[in-house]
Amino acid sequence: MPKVVSRSAVSSSTDARPTASAAAALRVYYCICGEFILVIERSLSALPKRQTDGATIIRCQDSGTENAIVLKLNAISTDPVLVERSGGHERQYRFSCPRCNLLVGYQSTPPPVKSGPYLYILSGALTQMQGQVPKDAFDGEAALNLAEAGDSISMVVRDGDATELNIISERA
Ligand SMILES: [Zn+2]
Repeated sequence: MPKVVSRSAVSSSTDARPTASAAAALRVYYCICGEFILVIERSLSALPKRQTDGATIIRCQDSGTENAIVLKLNAISTDPVLVERSGGHERQYRFSCPRCNLLVGYQSTPPPVKSGPYLYILSGALTQMQGQVPKDAFDGEAALNLAEAGDSISMVVRDGDATELNIISERA
């Protein structure tokens, strides 16, 4: 078995199980502020999405038929919130960017990460291109007005539970 070198360091926590094949295919995702957030052995775009909010579903515990996806999340826990869904409420334990506090994902069980069967990554929250806004960041935001003039772009995005996210993108 080939020796896993440098990149094994990012998934060396006790609950991650890096293998040679996983290390070779690890993908890195960043917050739109440029902070490193997620290392994962699969492409997020290849994973299933929730119908309720479009969040990417990451299986982080083994089930009878599927193995957990190897990942390392660099995010801070925030207070749990109750989100209204058709047919009831859903408790979300949220994770946000350690640098800019933008929400990046959630799970249905208290921290730490991977304490429940799934981790959810918010649609458009992360990008593989450090310093660039992901192209799906504003999907479904019909009223978005991208002003090209000026030194910065400021916009307000409402996600499914009406949380307002203020995003200011400084022009280089
Ligand atoms: Zn950030």
